[in-house]
Amino acid sequence: MPTPPDITRELTQLIEEEGPISVERFMGLANRHYYATRDAIGAAGDFITAPEVSQMFGEIIGLALADVWQRAGRPDNAALVELGPGHGTLADDMVRAMKVAGLEPAIHFVETSPLLREKQADLHPNAIWHDTIQTLPTDRPLLIVANEFFDALPVHQLVMTFTGWRERVVRLGMDGFEPAPGEPSKYGEVPPHLRHVDPGGIIESCPAARGLMRALARRLRDQGGAMLVIDYGHYGGSHGDTLQAVHAHAYADPFARPGASDLTAHVDFGALTGIARAAGTHVAGPVEQGQWLVSLGLSNRAAILTRNAPGRAHEIGDAYRRLTHPDEMGELFKVMAVTAKGWPEPGGF
Ligand code: SAH
Repeated sequence: MPTPPDITRELTQLIEEEGPISVERFMGLANRHYYATRDAIGAAGDFITAPEVSQMFGEIIGLALADVWQRAGRPDNAALVELGPGHGTLADDMVRAMKVAGLEPAIHFVETSPLLREKQADLHPNAIWHDTIQTLPTDRPLLIVANEFFDALPVHQLVMTFTGWRERVVRLGMDGFEPAPGEPSKYGEVPPHLRHVDPGGIIESCPAARGLMRALARRLRDQGGAMLVIDYGHYGGSHGDTLQAVHAHAYADPFARPGASDLTAHVDFGALTGIARAAGTHVAGPVEQGQWLVSLGLSNRAAILTRNAPGRAHEIGDAYRRLTHPDEMGELFKVMAVTAKGWPEPGGF
């Protein structure tokens, strides 16, 4: 592989030439570099995702979508779409479960990282890859899954100062990159009840997530199908600054080492719900991940796996806890479904 570009130098040069850049641009460039050059997911990487915790996660999602497909009359051309498939583990577990239910869809991956595409191809040699959602098929129902995808999209931030809201930018300080208030906000995005926040207060929005949700909801409306979004986040309101960096399974300074740590922000499910509804789709949830998985039979699945492999009982119990317990992923992570009108709502809501 050619030597990856030095993202610290690139960002430094950019800021020297153009002046401070928005947090949004910083996050977008840092993450693009990060995913393109590091295998971040897993014990040896920076973070572990639910599909890497246990096969049960993907199996339940696969069965939930197969069930929707069955109740929709088993359209024979439905395509499976995954956004940001990581190692391809979730798709592998989904496809196996779907097959049991008689569903064997073509697999479409939306993935920008060449490194992760290679990994995905090991498990899914016949998948079709897309850089963006624009090239997804337009002539068939879509079964779409996004797990820990929306949280990786760059957020735009405003910070309150004594002279009003300003765009939050990244500049070069004595010790490297640092956040600072930039130009007065050009956007009319500050909700009225937040107009009088104390200086230092931050509000966030994710234009990329909004655009994607709008486009995908329109696809579902026009083509039929269902989408499950699983991510950590909240339902509307002001949640301040949720930008965070994770490196080697520990929180880090989001501005300290761009491209070397995973930058994420909480997903605003309230905003996504509004956009999906406005686009003419039906929204269910969000509900907590733990509750959703259990209501779709996670305990049964764990019991079956344990019966088949008693030696793994401890490991399976552990995974069950990680996926469902409020202190682990059970409560912070949410599941939301978007369906075309006339399509059934997935179970578990
Ligand atoms: N869903 C996987 C991986 C989550 S990590 C899992 O649960 O294990 C985020 C994934 O989204 C990675 O595959 C990353 O390369 C991809 N990604 C991030 N930003 C993207 C973008 N703008 N377009 C397409 N893929 C993106």
